[in-house]
Amino acid sequence: METSSEGSVEDGGGVPVPVSVPEAAVVGSDGAQAPQSVVIAPSGLSPSRAGDFMQCPLLYRFRVIDRLPEKPSEAATRGTLVHAVLERLFDAPAAERTAPRAKSLIPAQWDRLRESRPEIGELFADDPEGERLARWLAEAEQLVERWFTLEDPTRLEPAERELFVEAELESGLRLRGIIDRVDVAPTGEVRIVDYKTGKAPRPEFAEGALFQMKFYALVVWRLKGVVPRRLQLVYLGSGDVLTYDPVLADLERVERKLHALWEAIQRATESGDWRPRPTKLCGWCDHQAHCPEFGGTPPPYPLPVRAAESAAGEQGRMGPD
Ligand code: SF4
Repeated sequence: METSSEGSVEDGGGVPVPVSVPEAAVVGSDGAQAPQSVVIAPSGLSPSRAGDFMQCPLLYRFRVIDRLPEKPSEAATRGTLVHAVLERLFDAPAAERTAPRAKSLIPAQWDRLRESRPEIGELFADDPEGERLARWLAEAEQLVERWFTLEDPTRLEPAERELFVEAELESGLRLRGIIDRVDVAPTGEVRIVDYKTGKAPRPEFAEGALFQMKFYALVVWRLKGVVPRRLQLVYLGSGDVLTYDPVLADLERVERKLHALWEAIQRATESGDWRPRPTKLCGWCDHQAHCPEFGGTPPPYPLPVRAAESAAGEQGRMGPD
């Protein structure tokens, strides 16, 4: 499960690799000493962070390297809440996995979420009467209820829920993520399921949605040597289920794509050259104040930067005599 407007858990996109912190990272632009933070270089990929880089390299930098804070959003938080409810419902015996039971889990899961992530309290700070919160909770209920029109949890016995997976490819690239649900048939066939609280994409955008699922399928294949039989996206926002039955060639293609992406990320990490790529998705970006496309200035780059010439030299290119 990945953090997105659909709501899921952040996985950080990489095993932290502490590096030396250059002065720029600890001294503010006004010369004041800022609290020193651990600066990390990316060391692996998750579907969310791979998606960030494909959307906008600068956004990736802000999230993974600068780790700039982002405000919680109602949509993402609702997604997290709904995911928690659907996961916990499977604690109950099969016959008791009903819609009323699922909805009854919402208040306790909401309390748990607020306790574990106090910043979520900001979301409804300006709602003293609780009207907006009540609407928001009712929307979460609707999403939970819709799930029962798409799947029947009394007939499901997940092998795994909220499964953290991590695999290292032969190249050393580490892939990781959290899978909402894994079902294993008596025949041993594996189905990977992801819940989305948004609406299903139009057919021409389905490939983008499936990327995350193929990423997980690749990780499972590399870990277990088994190609999942089915990938299933359950869209609670629109009541759609999107499925795809991958073949080995799909996973090999995704692996090649991820290697290319990772090389681009490493080049940008070393050079400090993270280009903004403005799209209509900028409207959802929390970092416009730091983005040159919106008149902002990124914070000082906190990692060591390799000069372009030396990087080229190490790659064996001929320089001028
Ligand atoms: S505002 Fe747009 S271009 Fe700028 S960092 Fe965010 S996504 Fe990238």
